Amino acid sequence: MKHLAKPFLVSAALCMATVLPAHAELDVARLKAAIEASVEADYPGLDALYKDIHAHPELAFEEVKTAARLAAEMRALGFEVTEKVGKTGLVAIYKNGDGPTIMVRTELDALPMEEKTGLAYASRDKTTWNGRETFVAHSCGHDIHMANWVGTAKTLLGLKDQWHGTLMFIAQPAEETGTGAKAMLADGVFTRFRKPDVGFGLHDGAFAYGMVNYRPGIGSSNADSLVIKFHGRGGHGAAPQETIDPVMIAARFIVDVQSVISREKGPTEFGVLSIGAIHGGTSPNIIPDDVLVLGTIRSFKPEVRARMLAGIERTAKAAAAMSDAPAPDIAVTEIAKAVMNDPAVVESAAKVMKVAFGEKFEAAPPVTPSEDFSEFVNAGVPSMFFNIGVYEPERVAAASNGTGPELPPNHSPLFAPVPKPTIETGIKAMTLAVLSAFDQHARGK
Ligand SMILES: [Zn+2]
Ligand SMILES: [Zn+2]
Repeated sequence: MKHLAKPFLVSAALCMATVLPAHAELDVARLKAAIEASVEADYPGLDALYKDIHAHPELAFEEVKTAARLAAEMRALGFEVTEKVGKTGLVAIYKNGDGPTIMVRTELDALPMEEKTGLAYASRDKTTWNGRETFVAHSCGHDIHMANWVGTAKTLLGLKDQWHGTLMFIAQPAEETGTGAKAMLADGVFTRFRKPDVGFGLHDGAFAYGMVNYRPGIGSSNADSLVIKFHGRGGHGAAPQETIDPVMIAARFIVDVQSVISREKGPTEFGVLSIGAIHGGTSPNIIPDDVLVLGTIRSFKPEVRARMLAGIERTAKAAAAMSDAPAPDIAVTEIAKAVMNDPAVVESAAKVMKVAFGEKFEAAPPVTPSEDFSEFVNAGVPSMFFNIGVYEPERVAAASNGTGPELPPNHSPLFAPVPKPTIETGIKAMTLAVLSAFDQHARGK
């Protein structure tokens, strides 16, 4: 841990010649240099932490070793750590005088899939998931987030003469299943501990390392899961007149429902329905009794979502009615709400990050995947969620101009962030974001 002697504030004299300002501005250039030096010095330890977590991933609510590893890191830094918040979650608190509480969140979980990157530190771990043996891999990059989280904590402690208040670092289980943030909230993360004044989270993605993308408003999509059971009346495939064919009903629904997307929702509004699974029947010559259709519905705006849900339900019922079948069972479960970034939090962080990253800090459109960080936002924490890139800029350029291969996205078995520049950018961006929030608060805004 490094301690920096001089406060990194531009003196009043530099800010204004004769009139004292109500506050001093953060000296971002000097802070950035100090953060970079700190991260460079810490990197070997963070690299080892990243590769260890990467090689030994754990699935939702099973992140026992991962959580223990992070708890040890944070305790060594002097954080007060509480384990098992929301089953396998962690809360790490560090008090540094009077001031606001700023939350930084990481996820803990990995995915039930086989990693095929061929990296020396690739995961070969297996576990049992829903009764079946599966490989486990950090193919969403949550391991990068964990290294960022620990690195940001270290960096902020090295700069603790620059801020006053409380750091609330939370490590959330089960993001991939959309249930971990809810579990932490239900277990009192904001009541047993405290409700933060500002929250930050980040996600890595398949764009150039060194880049930071942000969104002033909607950050990610609302996700609903769709389960429809179409009921028919089974019988012989050669005598369909004696049956009600649920395969036909499901097929008709799957095609017709896309007209809800193209005809009922505004063409400039984001909305997607993808059917990911159809289960029905056993044999070529048997018409089954029922067919199960599973899908995902994504949207940004509640009014667009409501229209899509109504259209989907109507189409399912109509498809069944056309065959004189009983009404289908339709279940829509909201998995995650859209993440809404707080304009004031984003504005103050963006001001600092623009100075630090220049043109590598970019406003971007919302992303269509979903993120249960929205649970913390909706629990009343004004927040900012941003994205960092993971690949070599040259490879990204070649992929975008067609001279190189497409780069594997998150959830691909080939997703392989370049660790050092990705982790360093994440720590730099997150540290500056947290400092901007402390600074904003100190100035009474
Ligand atoms: Zn994911
Ligand atoms: Zn993720």
